[in-house]
Amino acid sequence: MSRSTHSPNLHPGLPREALRRPFFFPSPFFSWTGIVLDLRVVRNYHGAISILRFTARIPHPIRSSLSIKHSDSGHTKRLPILIHPPAPLLPWFVALFFKEEIKDPRSNYEVVQGPLLLGLFAAAAQATPTSNCKCYPGESCWPAQSKWNELKTSVGGRLSTVAGANDPAKCAEVTAKWNDPDWVASLGTWPMLPFWSNSTCYPSNSGSCTSDCKQGVVPTYVIKATKVADIQAGVKFANKYNLRLIIRNTGHDFMGRSTGYGALVINTWRLKDITLHSSWSSPGSTYTGKAVTAGAGVMIHELYSKVWAANQDVLAGECPTVGVAGGYVQGGGQGPLSGIYGLASDNALQFTAVLADGSVVTANHRSATDLFWALKGGGPGTFAVVTSVTFKTFNRVQVSGMSLNIVGSGDTFWEGYRIWHTFGPELVKHGIYVWYAASEGNIIAQPFVAPGKTKAQLEAIVQPMLNSLTAANVTYTASPVQTFPNFGTLYNEMWFTAYHAANGQAGFGGRLISLTDAVNNGDNIVAAFREVLAKYPAVGFGGHLVNPGNAVPDPNQELSAVHPVFRKTADVLVYLYFLEDCLSASRRAEGDINEPNWQNAFWGNKVYPKLLKIKEKYDPNRTFWVKSTPGSEKWKLVNERLCKA
Ligand SMILES: Cc1cc2nc3c(=O)[nH]c(=O)nc-3n(C[C@H](O)[C@H](O)[C@H](O)COP(=O)(O)OP(=O)(O)OC[C@H]3O[C@@H](n4cnc5c(N)ncnc54)[C@H](O)[C@@H]3O)c2cc1C
Repeated sequence: MSRSTHSPNLHPGLPREALRRPFFFPSPFFSWTGIVLDLRVVRNYHGAISILRFTARIPHPIRSSLSIKHSDSGHTKRLPILIHPPAPLLPWFVALFFKEEIKDPRSNYEVVQGPLLLGLFAAAAQATPTSNCKCYPGESCWPAQSKWNELKTSVGGRLSTVAGANDPAKCAEVTAKWNDPDWVASLGTWPMLPFWSNSTCYPSNSGSCTSDCKQGVVPTYVIKATKVADIQAGVKFANKYNLRLIIRNTGHDFMGRSTGYGALVINTWRLKDITLHSSWSSPGSTYTGKAVTAGAGVMIHELYSKVWAANQDVLAGECPTVGVAGGYVQGGGQGPLSGIYGLASDNALQFTAVLADGSVVTANHRSATDLFWALKGGGPGTFAVVTSVTFKTFNRVQVSGMSLNIVGSGDTFWEGYRIWHTFGPELVKHGIYVWYAASEGNIIAQPFVAPGKTKAQLEAIVQPMLNSLTAANVTYTASPVQTFPNFGTLYNEMWFTAYHAANGQAGFGGRLISLTDAVNNGDNIVAAFREVLAKYPAVGFGGHLVNPGNAVPDPNQELSAVHPVFRKTADVLVYLYFLEDCLSASRRAEGDINEPNWQNAFWGNKVYPKLLKIKEKYDPNRTFWVKSTPGSEKWKLVNERLCKA
């Protein structure tokens, strides 16, 4: 499987950069006295040595002392210091060093007593961070333990520190549940793909837990929010102390966007309320039908269960444990019924959310309309913390389905691949959706979902494709077409669920293959697949034959802020990293985090500039930052630390 160029720290603990780079507080404040003081703290991770030094520019030597206090243990230490006037060979620079063993990289030292100016300076530096980067554990701007304790109290105790998954006390549980996506979703910060946490502390192949478990590149604190007020408290705290803030729901993100080194995470997974509305009328909208409101932590299977029990349908995705209000709808969100109902974002009637300043907003067709639009496909974790979303629901329709498995080798298999793939535009024009996985010698397409179609109708649609496969001597198995009373029954009986397991290791990319490309360049696309698989046999393709524009064309991108090409797709392709130059566009939720020219690839030049404006309006200071999302250009990750670009 391909890996992206992303290169997380190979030494779990602090970022590589922290080994060398001091942070530096300039002190123009004191220059009028004729004294310039700099205070530098250099953290060393591996040797666990902290060095404090300062430089001074003064007329006479000064002997003094400095007291420092360990933030966790409260242990204080008194250090004699001597401040010299400049020496001839070291003009304006004298340094004082001390070494201190630090067992926990989250620990910190505070200057509690020292020469008046130094003390004042340290206090000023803590109150007003001047660094170009977010504040990280071990730096003097990092909130003192007492401040974290205050936050913990304000969120009803729902704040905890984060360690790798490998808490030795939980080793048996971790090992047993390692591949269970529900279990991973329920954790505070662990990503579904451990690649994104540098595989810190994960059980070895033998199932045993690593004993040498370090903090790694995982976040530092997590608020497991159960109320909107918890989220508000987290946002305000992150703003106050200049912390990297990350929103995490289920951790399913293919691109690792719900984890990050040294961050405060707001976990929304516990906001599980689901309310059905028999008659919803949204302010400003012409819609007056049934609807459902889902809290930020509701997962697809939870939403389906509730809505199906009310004999309704809702547009959601295929993976049961993906969250509906996070990366899914904020990436557009396609699903098996997209051929008749469009995208999940097209069906969103309202969001409630916490903004970057900690205030709560309702976004719909009348209120915060620009934000409402941006939350519908404009990128996750970027504009606000969504606390709930309301979707239209629909009366259920009958659905027909089948599966297809093509096997073989060499030219015959690839002719089968060509026939199958170039038939995609014909399928999606009937509102059909197909989930598939393909590798050298094997294509599994399971299931075909044909909403509103009878058995005879689906048979008639697929027969020409099966005839072509037979004529080309391709080996395939097609299951008999079955008709189900509704999509829920088909989903429970036919879905191919092997790909829903957690903690696999794969690099992901994605492409949208437009109808035009599929028709005009179909042979070339398949030739490219073949070339890639010949060169990289471990690569697998997967995706969805789907065209959300079939029923909901949205030609002017008024409904949803997704790439216009998404409305004209034949195939939403995932797992593909190598073909970026020859295909149409890419999709934010299933793309490559290191996509070059991502603005154009994920949103296109019509949608992106509008999203950027909305980002500037709602989050000018970048409280919310997610790589390769609107406005993220102003900051970048430097060895996992988020710094101004
Ligand atoms: C097995 C599998 C199958 C999938 N199938 C489909 C599919 O059928 N259709 C489809 O469209 N996509 C599908 N996806 C892709 C999925 O939509 C994305 O991975 C999505 O980002 C997951 O969102 P999450 O909130 O569950 O995950 P998380 O990893 O928790 O979050 C993803 C992103 O959303 C942000 N976020 C989370 N919660 C909030 C919130 N409350 N407010 C603001 N931002 C938030 C996070 O910061 C992060 O950037 C699938 C993914 C997997 C792993």
